[in-house]
Amino acid sequence: MKDGGLIVPDRVTIPYIEGDGVGAEITPVCQKIVNEAVRIAYGGKRSIEWMEVLAGGKAFERTGEWLPQATLEAFREYLIGIKGPLTTPVGGGIRSLNVALRQTLDLYVCLRPVRWFKGVVSPLKEPQKVNMHIFRENTEDIYAGIEWEQGTPEARKFYAFLHDEMGVSKVRFPETSSFGVKPVSVEGSKRLVRSAIRYALQHHLTSVTLVHKGNIMKFTEGGFKRWGYEVAEQEFPDQTFSMNQYNQMKKDLGKESADAALADAANTGKVIIKDCIADAFLQNTLLKPEEYSVIATLNLNGDYISDQLAAMVGGIGIAPGANINYATGHAIFEATHGTAPDIAGQNIVNPCSMLLSSVMMLEHLGWDEAASLITQALEKLFASGEATFDLARFMPDGKPLGTTEFGQRVIEMLMC
Ligand code: NAD
Repeated sequence: MKDGGLIVPDRVTIPYIEGDGVGAEITPVCQKIVNEAVRIAYGGKRSIEWMEVLAGGKAFERTGEWLPQATLEAFREYLIGIKGPLTTPVGGGIRSLNVALRQTLDLYVCLRPVRWFKGVVSPLKEPQKVNMHIFRENTEDIYAGIEWEQGTPEARKFYAFLHDEMGVSKVRFPETSSFGVKPVSVEGSKRLVRSAIRYALQHHLTSVTLVHKGNIMKFTEGGFKRWGYEVAEQEFPDQTFSMNQYNQMKKDLGKESADAALADAANTGKVIIKDCIADAFLQNTLLKPEEYSVIATLNLNGDYISDQLAAMVGGIGIAPGANINYATGHAIFEATHGTAPDIAGQNIVNPCSMLLSSVMMLEHLGWDEAASLITQALEKLFASGEATFDLARFMPDGKPLGTTEFGQRVIEMLMC
């Protein structure tokens, strides 16, 4: 990392976590495809050296730890890594390995691009209109894990503080309530929205929508919205036009002038900054997906939104993701689905979530040519009905392939 940008050597070392369950099937298939795409795109000038690091069940078996320190150090040192799905330890000290990785490296953006591939069956009438990029805040909100179970001394103490010192009398059943705390900060919100705006500018995307529940949670979700608009107006005044500005103009100069300013901003390539309440947003994405491009939202909303949007274009088997700190350069790309124990070891798992995450990783490295080769190969295969069983079974001319056979077809298509 130098001056806010990555300096990428021609031979990069990528630490990877194979993953539990189906991880052992998807990871080698994806690595083979990526190696081949890089070789074809750069004629041997560039290459990836894959370096295995342990986490999850495999780590526990070999070292007695779910997330060894050496793994965290490798991700810290090499900046960019990739991981398969991990079993969530039951009853252990770690609540979630994914959350631990994100928090340790302060990977504050969970980026989920959502697009549709022709041929993949979607519940939407016009899935080609879906092209969204979700920026989910990854380190705050109710996910910070600050909660106390009902009936414990901690819950009683917390309630006593609320009641006696803060004058709170709105808890309906205080004796039997569990409590959770939802921290949302100015810095946390601003760095997320800043990253989303920069991404929109870099990728020539038309808008950033701040999705929130500020109508109910005024200081947390409402704060997120307010600080988001502030970032746009204070830090990107010449590159953005916000609906705040639009509303002000409408009040001062009338609707016609405000509409003209909005149209002018859109025509001159400014990113439009708008906001939407989360429940309306979920409905709108189904009814008019073309109105949304980059989405910036808090952690819990982002969780729901990611799954709904993934379902709109083919489901979790095909949804990629990455956890990124744009300031330090640390990024971990990941399969977004779980370990799928019900289908593990049967050679039927869809490797595309991990593969498209690898595509995101190549783009992040600036190796766009290799990334495009893989995306184009997938476009051709899906369009002709070639896919793993989870997708092929819904395609009119679906030709279901095993995981390794599908991987082989992707490699063949890289050359076409
Ligand atoms: P899951 O995502 O593993 O499976 C849900 C359903 O989707 C299953 O029917 C599965 O067969 C199917 N599925 C998932 N990925 C698929 C793919 N690539 N191709 C075809 N079908 C696929 O969720 P789960 O069953 O709730 O969780 C299993 C384990 O995974 C748990 O231990 C959970 O904690 C963990 N998990 C890990 C992650 C992660 O590491 N990012 C995410 C979610 C769940």
